[in-house]
Amino acid sequence: MSWAERLTESQTLATNLSAPLGLENKLSHSLLYLVIALSLLLLLSVWRLLRWRKRAQALEEVMVEANRSLRELLSQNDLLTVDVGRRKALECDLRASEERYRFYIEHAPIGMFVMHGKDEFALVNSALSSMTGFSKTELCTMKLAALISSDKSKESTQFFEGGHSHDSGEKEVTLRKKDGAVFVSYMHTITLPGDMVMGVCMDITERKKAEENIHHLAFFDALTALPNRRRLLDRLRQATARSVKEHDLGALLMMDLDHFKNLNDTLGHDVGDRLLKQVGRRLMDCVRPDDTVSRVGGDEFVIILEKLGGSVDIATRRAHDLVKKIHTAVSQLYPLIADRPDYYITSSIGLTLFGDQERSIEALLKKADVALYEAKKGGRNTYRFFSPEMQASIDDSTSLVDALRRALHHNEFTLYYQPQVNASGRVVGAEALLRWTPPNAEIISPLTFIAAAEESGLIVPIGDWVIEQGFRQLKRWQQYPETRGLKLSINVSADQFHHADFVAKIAHGIEHFDIDPTLITLELTESVVLQRVDQAIEKMLELKSRGISFSLDDFGTGYSSLSYLKLLPLDQVKIDSSFVRDISFDPDDASIVRAILAMSGSLGLSVIAEGVETQVQREFLFDHGCLHYQGYLFGRPVPIENFSADASHSRV
Ligand code: C2E
Ligand code: CA
Ligand code: CA
Repeated sequence: MSWAERLTESQTLATNLSAPLGLENKLSHSLLYLVIALSLLLLLSVWRLLRWRKRAQALEEVMVEANRSLRELLSQNDLLTVDVGRRKALECDLRASEERYRFYIEHAPIGMFVMHGKDEFALVNSALSSMTGFSKTELCTMKLAALISSDKSKESTQFFEGGHSHDSGEKEVTLRKKDGAVFVSYMHTITLPGDMVMGVCMDITERKKAEENIHHLAFFDALTALPNRRRLLDRLRQATARSVKEHDLGALLMMDLDHFKNLNDTLGHDVGDRLLKQVGRRLMDCVRPDDTVSRVGGDEFVIILEKLGGSVDIATRRAHDLVKKIHTAVSQLYPLIADRPDYYITSSIGLTLFGDQERSIEALLKKADVALYEAKKGGRNTYRFFSPEMQASIDDSTSLVDALRRALHHNEFTLYYQPQVNASGRVVGAEALLRWTPPNAEIISPLTFIAAAEESGLIVPIGDWVIEQGFRQLKRWQQYPETRGLKLSINVSADQFHHADFVAKIAHGIEHFDIDPTLITLELTESVVLQRVDQAIEKMLELKSRGISFSLDDFGTGYSSLSYLKLLPLDQVKIDSSFVRDISFDPDDASIVRAILAMSGSLGLSVIAEGVETQVQREFLFDHGCLHYQGYLFGRPVPIENFSADASHSRV
């Protein structure tokens, strides 16, 4: 029922109640009172109804509000129920993951720790314990400082103290184990809120060693432990920059061992290596700690000498003294094999100064190289300073090969002949020596161009030309009784000799010119023969079977033991002019010559001495059994038209 219906109903009730009061007068007062009472009652009811309505309204509002709140409450309650469930699951997860993480930390292959403050261990794992040798309990009573190796403590503690104020940091720290051993560790720490530090720690000793190893392999020569080419270039860059800045000159030395290959070929690489190591040590003994001795290739050493002085004169003098010292040190005997004679080897050195002005290191290396090349050209066993004249040869090195090629085409070569005499002074033969006369230029010595011809391969066609010319000359000599017996010595280079066609070419030449092969002597150096010794012997035997003789040129400058000579089918050894030169006043040279003569005699080899310039030298040689000579004393190399062989037809 609505509030309006309820009001109408109460009014109808009041009308229905008043009707009996008008019907009876006696009862009219009592009825009035009743009506009033009833009206009051009605009013009260209405008021009550109104109040109730108000109250009901308010109640309804309250109810609505309560209902809403209740709903909210209920819904919140729902939520709360869900959260509690989730939280429990989360807690469970959290516990599981905490356990998992603890497990991980404990079993991590790297050391892990948490520290109170910046030093005291609060938590450590097994890896840290086994890394350091301290138990986990021991570690937890220790401070990090106690682990840090005392000699490195300064740098390490700085990391954790004043020096390390960042949130995280990493460093290599040298730590001490329980047994006192030390190891290099990598530490990475993170500072956490609440003055805690968490960190990981790895033993990187092996990695450091490997790194050092790699560095060593990359920058040092494995055999001698000397700096290698890469490091040399680095040092040279630094040295030149410093030298220019400080106005203090330095020198760059390039050194090659003379005929080192012989040693390797005859006694094997192990023995060769032994020698190289000893050479390295000797070089180190000759220089100051600041200088650099490097091995840049087989038998090539490069030395940087620093702080030689501010003026070119002084630096040159000091460099000269040092290079002399080095050169002498290298040529001292080397004990290589027990019960075998000590080995003797010489060196060729090229050097140049640096620091007077900014220059590229490539240019410097090139200069030292050119000077070395000059030293070799000068007969080896010597040293040469770079000179401006040599610069021309750098610029000309490629054009030299071109020019040689042209020379071959345009017949610019000539053969000179130098007499070879016997003990009674009679010319018994000649050595053919090559000369080059470029158009409108002076005659050029083979010393200037043979090396370039050998390097470029041009030596093969040039050598063919020499053989052809020589054979032609032999043929001419054979046509006259006075010169018929003259022998001809021809120099043969390695590439030429080892060329597949060599034997065939010689055989063809003999046939073509119809000459007596017993008058042909081929001069080989030790390095030519020993390059491929078996093959060389085979070729020599084949040529010998046709009547050709062999002479070992420059004897004494290469491998000093003569025993292997027995293997070679030689006829003659040619004592190198460097021994002959000082024969009368250098007791060493004199004894070498005596030894060569004695040994050759016992092997049934004839001996010829080259570079004989004086009567004294000849007499010494004669007195010790050398019966053949070649040198300025008897005649210089000359064109055939000037050649005299004690006979009128020698010039034909
Ligand atoms: P090598 O075979 O040792 O020739 C001897 C060198 O000593 C020659 O130099 C000769 O002129 C020089 N000589 C001779 N007697 C004396 C002397 O009494 N005193 C001095 N100080 N020197 C003397 P050259 O003619 O300049 O030849 C130099 C080198 O060039 C030769 O040395 C040889 O290795 C090479 N060579 C020359 N001709 C040829 C050739 O046709 N073929 C090849 N492959 N090499 C050659
Ligand atoms: Ca010769
Ligand atoms: Ca010679």
